[in-house]
Amino acid sequence: MRDATRHPLHDLHDAVIVGAGPAGLAAALMLGRTHRDVVVLDSGTYRNDPTDAMHNVLGFDGVEPAEFRAAAHRTLAAYDTVELRRTSAHDVAPLDPAAPADGFVVRTAEGDVAGRRLLLATGVRDELPATPGLAELFGTVAAHCPYCHGHEFSGTPVAILGAGPHAPRVAGLLERIASRVVVLADGADVDPQVREALDARGVAVRPERVLRLERTALADGHPGARAVLDGGEELLGGVMVAPALHQAAPFAARLGLELRDSGCVAVDAMARTSMPGVLAAGDLAHTADFPMPLASVTAAMAAGQLAAASIDSDLLTL
Ligand SMILES: Cc1cc2nc3c(=O)[nH]c(=O)nc-3n(C[C@H](O)[C@H](O)[C@H](O)COP(=O)(O)OP(=O)(O)OC[C@H]3O[C@@H](n4cnc5c(N)ncnc54)[C@H](O)[C@@H]3O)c2cc1C
Repeated sequence: MRDATRHPLHDLHDAVIVGAGPAGLAAALMLGRTHRDVVVLDSGTYRNDPTDAMHNVLGFDGVEPAEFRAAAHRTLAAYDTVELRRTSAHDVAPLDPAAPADGFVVRTAEGDVAGRRLLLATGVRDELPATPGLAELFGTVAAHCPYCHGHEFSGTPVAILGAGPHAPRVAGLLERIASRVVVLADGADVDPQVREALDARGVAVRPERVLRLERTALADGHPGARAVLDGGEELLGGVMVAPALHQAAPFAARLGLELRDSGCVAVDAMARTSMPGVLAAGDLAHTADFPMPLASVTAAMAAGQLAAASIDSDLLTL
């Protein structure tokens, strides 16, 4: 990686990438390989911080996220024009508000950094239901994505926390994996259509409020959770939950970027946002082609690579 001292902060870099998760790091690799001068900013918190093993990533299945990032940093170290700065950005703005495509400045505690193109890869933040004990289990026994953390619950009873419209689909994803699927309605009314779809799958619904979740182990030693209900309990090998998602950083709002109903930044097929010169990749972005944001390590890397191709080809025309 390049020595930052050789490049004063007032230099206009080819691109500034805010965010060094899989999306930002993959973009940096692609740009480094065409010798684009790139600064990547990393505040040091990542969406998958709560878990100690990531899955569904070829070559890294079951690997600690920190180990994956360390491998990515080693890869990037071979590219002289890529600089990783471990600092948090606190503001972004066009250099000239009348001509945003001319470049952007990103303000950090260590000073400003400016680039001709700005890639936002700051990810999202999960807001969990307030169920006591859930936060402590999230990332291990409790999970949001059956593709990332479903197989690990194989052969055990799995609960879906909340009987929202997502419940029948999640139940369908789990029915080949879990020994039994149960929906914990947590005291809420269940929409008749949801109830019908769950009945059709033979999924039981527990109507009681969930008082708390406690970490425990199943009889065979499998990690598990005890759901203490207002009138009973469930012993579980896994709990699926649907967190509300929020932008992890305020920059989309700061720049006035168009958002989709998901709350994610609207991007086109080439990762371009509604503001010329600003791209977005990873969990924070959402293309019109998908009903929901694609949120996985591999999807974030692919989006980062695409954004980098977009930046590179855009700069070729200057
Ligand atoms: C508990 C949990 C487990 C998961 N497990 C898996 C799994 O097994 N497999 C899988 O494929 N996916 C998994 N995911 C999803 C996966 O973590 C995300 O899809 C992926 O991390 C998205 O990458 P990203 O680059 O968009 O964002 P992130 O990985 O969240 O990275 C965001 C980056 O932006 C930086 N940043 C944010 N704000 C600022 C700022 N102000 N200044 C500078 N930098 C900033 C952060 O420091 C970080 O570098 C899991 C998610 C969760 C919540």
